[in-house]
Amino acid sequence: MAMVCPPGLTWQRCCFYPDVMAGGAADLVDPFGRVIRDLRISVTDRCNFRCTYCMPAEGMEWLPRGEVLTFEEIERIARIFVERYGVDGIRLTGGEPTVRAHLTTLIAKLSALGIDLAMTTNGATLRNIAHDLRSAGLNRINISLDTLDPERFEAMTRRDELHNVLAGIDAAVEAGFDPVKVNTVVERGVNDDEIVAMATFGRERGIEVRFIEFMPLDAEGHWVNDKVVGQDEIVAKIAEVFPLEQVPARGAAPADRWRYLDGAGTVGVIPTVTKPFCGDCDRVRLTAEGQFRTCLFATEESDLRDLLRSGADDDAVAKRIEAAVGQKWAGHQINQVTFTRPARTMSQIGG
Ligand code: SAM
Ligand code: SF4
Repeated sequence: MAMVCPPGLTWQRCCFYPDVMAGGAADLVDPFGRVIRDLRISVTDRCNFRCTYCMPAEGMEWLPRGEVLTFEEIERIARIFVERYGVDGIRLTGGEPTVRAHLTTLIAKLSALGIDLAMTTNGATLRNIAHDLRSAGLNRINISLDTLDPERFEAMTRRDELHNVLAGIDAAVEAGFDPVKVNTVVERGVNDDEIVAMATFGRERGIEVRFIEFMPLDAEGHWVNDKVVGQDEIVAKIAEVFPLEQVPARGAAPADRWRYLDGAGTVGVIPTVTKPFCGDCDRVRLTAEGQFRTCLFATEESDLRDLLRSGADDDAVAKRIEAAVGQKWAGHQINQVTFTRPARTMSQIGG
């Protein structure tokens, strides 16, 4: 007798996953067998910084407010991922998530879903809000910091805010976020002479610094391969001063990690360009205006906001999510001539 999947279910979710037939969560699996576990939600495309590797100094066009998903819409989509597909990690990002008004209200709603809730932020306002974010249910926080030099900081972010970001990192630690991590984008000729200084900063505070290879998602299009400082070079520079051993089993996490042999913690590198980790990718993304993306570098998106606003039920939304995941590609092609930059830039996608 021929098997037919019930309406709204793909083969992965009915034939191979009996628990979904019993009403439980079932894995959302892409064509390459990767299970989706991590949802990144951009809560705004706006930002109070203008980092040179991300945004132009002037002229960003913001989404009209009515186009940005409401908290109720975000919560509904998140709930579908958690309840239907067993997604257990959600990261809020942007743009700068902390510029979204009443962010703690959203955090409380998402935290109630019982997931590991994290956020990436530039940290500029954390000094004032870290405790409230923690109390609302945010578990983990990554703060972006590319330099410890005030003038360079101003050149890179186009804002004189280093003192506030440093205070924000301290506030995050005091508020009890565990772990607090620091994200450092390395751009050759801009801040690659500070790799050891940034590693030292992390060691002194018990914070994992994660160096990020510069990616071709900057709004001004000045990315070229020569500006990428690769993982091997970053690790070699650190290891010259602080001997390291690699931590095995990265799993689906984007960062490769190393342990300082003197016991002063760990350091990570996200090697998107020189050692792509697409084969282990468990991530999908939702943009601030409700476009669903299965890769940071995807050139296609699926509109979930339209569905939500046209009165579609959860089954219809799930069907669109599954159709998109069913098309997730094997990986980006940054290092190949066929690579096409996505039309959107980092802050418009949600890094
Ligand atoms: N505004 C927040 C922040 O900066 O942390 C969250 C959004 S930001 C787009 C997320 C992360 O992407 C940050 O750590 C930022 O440094 C990183 N990023 C932005 N543009 C990048 C690029 N072209 N290459 C690599 N990382 C980038
Ligand atoms: Fe804003 Fe983050 Fe982009 Fe910097 S990296 S401009 S802080 S969104």
